[in-house]
Amino acid sequence: MITLKFYVLQPLVAAVFLAVCSCAPSTPKEAYQQKYGASTVSTVEEYRRQVAQHPDRELVDLRAYLPDAAFDVVYATAENFMGTPVYKSPGAYLRKPAAEALRAVQAELAEMGYGLKIWDAYRPYRVTVEFYEHVLDSTFAASPYTGSKHNRGCAVDLTLIDKSTGEELAMPTPFDEFTTRAHVGFSDLPEEVLRNRELLIKAMANHGFSVYADEWWHFDFHDWEQYELVDLEFEELESVSF
Ligand SMILES: [Zn+2]
Repeated sequence: MITLKFYVLQPLVAAVFLAVCSCAPSTPKEAYQQKYGASTVSTVEEYRRQVAQHPDRELVDLRAYLPDAAFDVVYATAENFMGTPVYKSPGAYLRKPAAEALRAVQAELAEMGYGLKIWDAYRPYRVTVEFYEHVLDSTFAASPYTGSKHNRGCAVDLTLIDKSTGEELAMPTPFDEFTTRAHVGFSDLPEEVLRNRELLIKAMANHGFSVYADEWWHFDFHDWEQYELVDLEFEELESVSF
């Protein structure tokens, strides 16, 4: 009788414990969110609700906003510092006002015969966690405790191209070369490279983007504090229409 009671009661006790205790993460997403304590928009429903109230929070597809830009979303390939794709598809999204500002940058550059090549834009918070846990350094990989401005849909990694040839202009380093040469103050460079870097930084600044000092290719949109961290995959964004 005692034995029978034990077998009957044990699963009941476990079920009650699990129902009451919500502290145990049940998904990888919950696990890293608890670990770093960052607050993110992590469901399609929440994102849809926010955009319905504040249309500027929509993450818009840059390919639609910038049809003349070039795209090379390297995180969707193995050709990146992680050595493996971290995106399932080469999505490129920004919050609507940032995308509109980038369109103005492109129009200004087009008059001079230049265009933009986008390497990365909105980045799901999940990927910031993966980057940080790979490098364990927050100089080049944003800390998951605070998140990245990429997670807010307010940062973009890009370079200049010659509009007539599609070729990249000479810059101090390739994308994601994490060296002192990537710092915007690094000056031991050919005149042409200094000029190209300056042209990019100035064109972006004219429309509300400031360069990140350690990475000449990374730009933050001035209004980034207005926007929350988002942890939705590109495929989830694509599933939402407004
Ligand atoms: Zn960046």
